[in-house]
Amino acid sequence: MPLERIVKELIEQTLEEARSIGCHHVWRVRLVLGALAGVSPEELSGCFQELARDPALAGTSIDVEVRPALARCKNCELEFEPEADPWPCPRCAGFSWVLLEGDEVYLEGIEQEPEG
Ligand SMILES: [Zn+2]
Repeated sequence: MPLERIVKELIEQTLEEARSIGCHHVWRVRLVLGALAGVSPEELSGCFQELARDPALAGTSIDVEVRPALARCKNCELEFEPEADPWPCPRCAGFSWVLLEGDEVYLEGIEQEPEG
C-alpha cells in the first residue's frame, strides 16, 4: 500500500480517536512501525505532518516506535528477527520464512496536551 494511503488512514483514525474523547487538539500521536514495513520513521512522520491538514493536528508531535520484525523459518521452524528482506535464517541459512510481524503501521494512541 502506498505510504500516502496508509498515512491518510492513520490521520482519519487519529481524528476519530480525538473526537471520541472530546480532544480538540492532539498534542502527540504515537505510531508503531514494523521494521520491515518498507518505510523509515522519518518518512512516516514527515508524510503524516504533510498530510495532516486538520487544525486539531496543527503542531502535533509525532512519535514513531519501530518494532522489530519476527519471522519463522520454513525449514527449521526457528523464530528470529530479520533485519531486512531477504535475510538468512541464523540457524540453517535458509531464505524461506514467514513474516509473523514487522510489516505493520498502526496508531498506538494519541495524547492530549497535559493540563497546567
Ligand atoms: Zn532455519
